[in-house]
Amino acid sequence: MIAYSPNSLIVFVQNFDCHNHSIFSDGLLRPRELVELAKKNGCDAVALTDHDNTGGLAEAEAAAVDLQVRFIRGVELSVSWPSHSPSAETADITPITIHVVGLGINPHDAALVSGIASIRNGRLDRARQMGANLANMGIEGVFEDALALADNKDMIGRTHFARALVARGVASNVGAVFGRFLTSGKPGFVAHQWASLNAAIQWITGAGGVAVLAHPGRYKLSKQEMRVLLAEFRDAGGEAIEVITGSHEKQQYREYAILAREFGFMASRGSDFHGPGESRFDPGTLPLLPTDLVPVWSVLQ
Ligand code: AMP
Ligand code: MN
Ligand code: MN
Ligand code: MN
Repeated sequence: MIAYSPNSLIVFVQNFDCHNHSIFSDGLLRPRELVELAKKNGCDAVALTDHDNTGGLAEAEAAAVDLQVRFIRGVELSVSWPSHSPSAETADITPITIHVVGLGINPHDAALVSGIASIRNGRLDRARQMGANLANMGIEGVFEDALALADNKDMIGRTHFARALVARGVASNVGAVFGRFLTSGKPGFVAHQWASLNAAIQWITGAGGVAVLAHPGRYKLSKQEMRVLLAEFRDAGGEAIEVITGSHEKQQYREYAILAREFGFMASRGSDFHGPGESRFDPGTLPLLPTDLVPVWSVLQ
């Protein structure tokens, strides 16, 4: 059950942005700069949700205190989920990557700290392999370029490769590089084993946080597979899904609002901002949540 007071209608109209990145993962701004931009854009609250690490939270929180904007401690965990339609043969199961955002976490929780360290483990080797694959097709030295672009070296990821390839003029923007080189089946893609869904949700909830399924509309799943994912996510302790996200098209706002109602999830809103000029939405500029959904922040301290 969701502890929620229908009297606190004010939560509906607040500009909360619950999904943003900094240089501590694959964002372009320092945590302080992110909070400054969120404040400038009129955010009532901003979350920092870097991939698989919490290193930027202290700086962001200090900035939020200075600027008098509410701050939500967050993280975005990488998960490998063996998607399966009920009719599929077991042998056909190929894990897909999904992301789970944790909001309101205690970043010092021991199990969370060791859990996210275990997810980070292997990123460098994966990146070396991506570089080798690209070299095999004649594009040399991209690993070194990507590593130079990653402030946090053990968080090197596909976004850094994408920026390195854009800098070389291989494609005009990050999105185009992903489509040509960095997604499943493309030459620079290297499959990786991330955390299990259960472990990721346990680390978040064990650290006092709320587990939110990030940008569900981005996963390549049939409607039936999506329902399996939502049911498993809920059974494992997930309590919210992103409805309004920079990754969703307008019709997906409606689609995931319907699923949130049906499955009894709270709803989250987050731009998934990575950098000015690179992301579709800057912090705080997305449409507001539909007013009949329970915002995830209604249960955050
Ligand atoms: P990684 O964790 O290294 O696999 O990188 C995942 C990150 O790549 C995501 O968090 C996004 O920031 C970025 N990304 C994934 N797919 C795309 C895409 N199609 N266009 C732009 N960025 C993407
Ligand atoms: Mn990212
Ligand atoms: Mn994500
Ligand atoms: Mn993200």
